[in-house]
Amino acid sequence: MLAGPTAVGKGTVVAEVRRNHPQVWVSVSATTRAPRPGERHGEHYLFVSPDEFDRAIAADELLEWAVVHGTHRYGTPRTPVERVLAAGGKALLEIDLQGVRQVRAAKPDACFVFLAPPSWDELVRRQRGRGTEPAAERERRLATARAEMAAESEFDTTIVNADVRRAAADLVALWG
Ligand code: 5GP
Repeated sequence: MLAGPTAVGKGTVVAEVRRNHPQVWVSVSATTRAPRPGERHGEHYLFVSPDEFDRAIAADELLEWAVVHGTHRYGTPRTPVERVLAAGGKALLEIDLQGVRQVRAAKPDACFVFLAPPSWDELVRRQRGRGTEPAAERERRLATARAEMAAESEFDTTIVNADVRRAAADLVALWG
């Protein structure tokens, strides 16, 4: 389970894992937010309508879900994860702190990895550099990041994302 503050580069590290470590199975989340340029349905996310998300919650199809940054909903489809675990495999979930707390309750044996920035200033810099969100949305995400940074002690281990390849390799090494 990989979590960490917004803009720390979780998505980039997970993309690196997908590219160079295909033995690691990565969960594809459902989200109600719109695709960013280059994002593909079924690959980066399952982009669904709010109605479809409601239906999935009601049908208990999500292992966990949360409203992230006070705007859109994100959740982990349960069946694919259960299938991988039942076959003796391991699953990588890239989720937010609220999701981590839910998964911890459901699967106490899971390994929770905190992806940390080299420093807070670097996190703010990465957030600005992203430039895909309007200022108000960026402020919301920084507020979330501040709360998430404070939760590091809830995790089993921390990986510092100074270098994407290194962070991905450190993460995969935990697969052992
Ligand atoms: P983004 O919109 O930048 O792709 O993701 C925003 C945040 O949503 C990230 O912090 C990411 O960890 C979180 N997120 C992505 N998928 C899930 C999910 O399935 N469940 C939860 N709880 N959070 C998720």
